[in-house]
Amino acid sequence: MTQVNPQATLDSYEVWFLTGSQGLYGEETLRQVEEQSRAVHAELAPHVPVKLVWKPVLTDADGIRRALIEASADDRVIGVTTWMHTFSPAKMWIGGLQALTKPLLHLHTQANVALPWGDIDFDFMNLNQAAHGDREFGYALARLGVRHATAVGHVSDERVQQRVANWTRAAAGAAAVRELKLTRFGDNMRYVAVTEGDKTEAEIELGVQVNTWAVNELAEAVSAATEQDVDALVAVYDESYDLVPELQDGGARRSALRDGAAIELGLRALLEQNGSAAFTTNFEDLGTLKQLPGLAVQRLMADGYGFGAEGDWKTAVLVRAMNVAGAGLPGGASLMEDYTYDLTPGAEKILGAHMLEVSPTLTTTKPTLEIHPLGIGGKDDPVRLVFTADAGEAVVVALSDTRDGFRLTANVVDVVPPTEALPKLPVGRAVWEPRPSFPVAAEAWLTAGAAHHTVMTTAVGLQVVEDLATMVGTEFLVIDEHTTARGFRDELRLQQAWHRLDRGF
Ligand code: MN
Repeated sequence: MTQVNPQATLDSYEVWFLTGSQGLYGEETLRQVEEQSRAVHAELAPHVPVKLVWKPVLTDADGIRRALIEASADDRVIGVTTWMHTFSPAKMWIGGLQALTKPLLHLHTQANVALPWGDIDFDFMNLNQAAHGDREFGYALARLGVRHATAVGHVSDERVQQRVANWTRAAAGAAAVRELKLTRFGDNMRYVAVTEGDKTEAEIELGVQVNTWAVNELAEAVSAATEQDVDALVAVYDESYDLVPELQDGGARRSALRDGAAIELGLRALLEQNGSAAFTTNFEDLGTLKQLPGLAVQRLMADGYGFGAEGDWKTAVLVRAMNVAGAGLPGGASLMEDYTYDLTPGAEKILGAHMLEVSPTLTTTKPTLEIHPLGIGGKDDPVRLVFTADAGEAVVVALSDTRDGFRLTANVVDVVPPTEALPKLPVGRAVWEPRPSFPVAAEAWLTAGAAHHTVMTTAVGLQVVEDLATMVGTEFLVIDEHTTARGFRDELRLQQAWHRLDRGF
């Protein structure tokens, strides 16, 4: 296994570019196929956010099977694209597709954009026959039930480039979940249903390892933070945020900020020791920690870690997945919770926040660093970053456990500026209007039994979430501008029935 990097990055990943053909038309045709395959690869590669690796043209069952086994065995490879340049009889692909364990993108393209109407002859027809070669391949995918996505069009078309990029980002998110070791500090919040779930099933379906550590092991790691390390980290805070006077150097509550820094250092140390890129905390189980981790959690999420509050490991998985999928793009991903509403008819809004733990990647403004009492938990006042999420399109996604597996529910929303200032709400927060409308979106969300915790992503859109759902094979329900309450109920029933049948007995 490659070293786990908690930073959200796509640097270590590859997608393999595979081209199918056959020997029927002779060496000269295969030479042209290779030339055109290399050219299509070269045109597409700059638009793919990971290294796109060209592989020699595949012309027989043994070579195909070998290539797909190698892709499956290589930890760097997060998926393969397949394009049947010439007719590549699909029975040759059965053994390989049965061996493939990585996501597949069927790239339905061809070398030329326009037809050379005046010059076209049958040699050209035989060379450029993906129009039916890919249909033959599509039959094999459908017959075998291979989960996959399809991109259609010439690779110079921006829509195709974006489609491939989105799929690649989803594949990176799926890979990040497959290699994820998630550390829970304590169990989940008492009496809460939706944060429960089957951790063994999660490892079977998603690959993520979810395990628990005593919170006092974290407290020990926090105590082990040196004064010098705390000094250095507090200097970073001074540089990065607008501190309220009481937290500034010489301020009355500077020591609370130092406690917060020690918590961040301890968290980072223990997560590195565990090889973990995601974690959970629970305000009911803080052991000897002085504060509920707020600032520390916000900063770790911004670095790419997954996080879920109240022991919510499923949302922590989603935050990690979306952090990796969105790596390098503007915006970010954060734990979010639908908190309270503005129910003004026709202008309904959702105010989302958490006790403390919202990632500052949702804003381009400089957050303020503040300290305030927290009504629950019975600990010292926690330090936290305060800001409002930028306006713009976002997706909120929840993962719930259906006992038969997992259900992803996604709602496309528009983050909007708060109607008025929120001077007495010192947390990271977001205000949004869900699509298609508040009543339909909320009804659909409740009908799906989707969670109150979500990941909010402003870096990637719905297509990435949908591709990720396809790759991991969960139920997937969308609430967007096309949703109706009746249609959603029907879709939910269909998904439930399909997934139960698909699982078999
Ligand atoms: Mn919560």
